[in-house]
Amino acid sequence: MSALLCPDCRIEMETQTYYGVLVDVCPACAGVWFDEREMRALMQVDPLILLSLEDRAVPDVYYSAQETLERRCPRCAIPLHPYRYLYDSPVELDGCNQCHGIWVEDGELRRIHEEMHRHRTPDEEERQRLAIAQYAMQSQQQVERANMLASLFSLLRKRIPPFSGF
Ligand SMILES: [Zn+2]
Ligand SMILES: [Zn+2]
Repeated sequence: MSALLCPDCRIEMETQTYYGVLVDVCPACAGVWFDEREMRALMQVDPLILLSLEDRAVPDVYYSAQETLERRCPRCAIPLHPYRYLYDSPVELDGCNQCHGIWVEDGELRRIHEEMHRHRTPDEEERQRLAIAQYAMQSQQQVERANMLASLFSLLRKRIPPFSGF
């Protein structure tokens, strides 16, 4: 599969992993493309996922998108439409009506960040951090348990001879 092109810069984006989910990040403008299932997976981990992304996706150089450029879905090539992140948020993102992917500009990440900070108390932020840390730990445990079960099953399959009647 070839890399997706940034809807703004039209250059190849790089895949990055957030909480085990792959997203596409533009190396120039630091915009982030989420496929529908990626966004949903990340929202389950962290409802304020875009906030955490802000710290990690930083543009290389000062970049200003050309307003005249029509944004198109990097997958479907159809024009993107305004999409609201969290219902009460003033931040407008761009979404694809066909594949339901979402494009998040770097500047929009910052606006979300500011918006969230206005409403959140340090307590809530601490709780959020703990929840994320706990999730990371749980998913690690789940992987270990799954591996253990898999090896247990394959061991049992080897040990138990096929049922051959009486
Ligand atoms: Zn870009
Ligand atoms: Zn699309």
